[in-house]
Amino acid sequence: MLFRLTILGSAAALPILNRHTTAQHLRINQTHILIDCGEGTQQQMLKYKINALKIDFIFISHLHGDHYLGLMGLISSMHTMKREKDLYIFAPKGLDEIIGIQMKYSRLHLNFKIHLQEVCNDAPTVIFSQSHFQVWALPMNHRIECYGYLFKQISNKRKTKPEYAQLFETMDSNTIKQLLSGKNVLNQLGELRYDYELLTQLLPVYSYAYLADTAFSAEIALFLAAQHVDWLYHEATFLEEDKERAEKTFHSTAKQAAEIAVLSKVRNLLIGHFSARYTKIQTLQDEAKQVFENTFLALEGSQHDINL
Ligand SMILES: [Zn+2]
Ligand SMILES: [Zn+2]
Repeated sequence: MLFRLTILGSAAALPILNRHTTAQHLRINQTHILIDCGEGTQQQMLKYKINALKIDFIFISHLHGDHYLGLMGLISSMHTMKREKDLYIFAPKGLDEIIGIQMKYSRLHLNFKIHLQEVCNDAPTVIFSQSHFQVWALPMNHRIECYGYLFKQISNKRKTKPEYAQLFETMDSNTIKQLLSGKNVLNQLGELRYDYELLTQLLPVYSYAYLADTAFSAEIALFLAAQHVDWLYHEATFLEEDKERAEKTFHSTAKQAAEIAVLSKVRNLLIGHFSARYTKIQTLQDEAKQVFENTFLALEGSQHDINL
């Protein structure tokens, strides 16, 4: 199975040479998801071979320009490329108006349907669910209404518990199939012969949380800890030495991002949304690593397998 994240943009507010504003591509098996869509996202998609026509879902965190100004261009290109399949967009209030007014004045009549769902919740809430994954919207602590998103795999696939491997060798293929699909096996008298819960276990599932833009929030970390999140992306706009600026603008420092990773009990932390003031972003990673060792930079083009 595939659960792969590709970073398309790592810059906060301003694009600078080789650093683009926020966008990420997440692939869960055959489902293609775009998280935020800053200006220049199309160029990044071309560079990293992500086909715009394959995107099924777009999740927009908030309506600061560095997170969505590439969206109308992308929609327009999808139309030009003769997209036909429906597109599902999730965003806070206002995006429908913005898209509507741009389409109105360019007299754009799309040859595909957009389903735009307004995200509006003051506590973590499931906003989308499909057979193999679900998405939660997580309210962020930012200057305007803003949501992080949690992507959780769903699976009911089971495997044999290692301690019963020998017993399985004595079973016929139908019995094994039944147990692995979560069904008990009965004898001819209708009595329980094999208990699937005793003999098998669910295969592990994985999850990815995207938190941007936000000031430090211990509350959200406690929620993530309860959800057993594997990979966490947390914005790290500033260094600790610029903490005052971070507080004023409702952003986080690299150290704070790492503290959230510790509290969330995640396996790995990705930091991004770097201020243009830092030319050497390695210093942000160094700062975070002092608190949380498994910290990686969300650099353009970097890929991260959530299920490994
Ligand atoms: Zn931003
Ligand atoms: Zn913002």
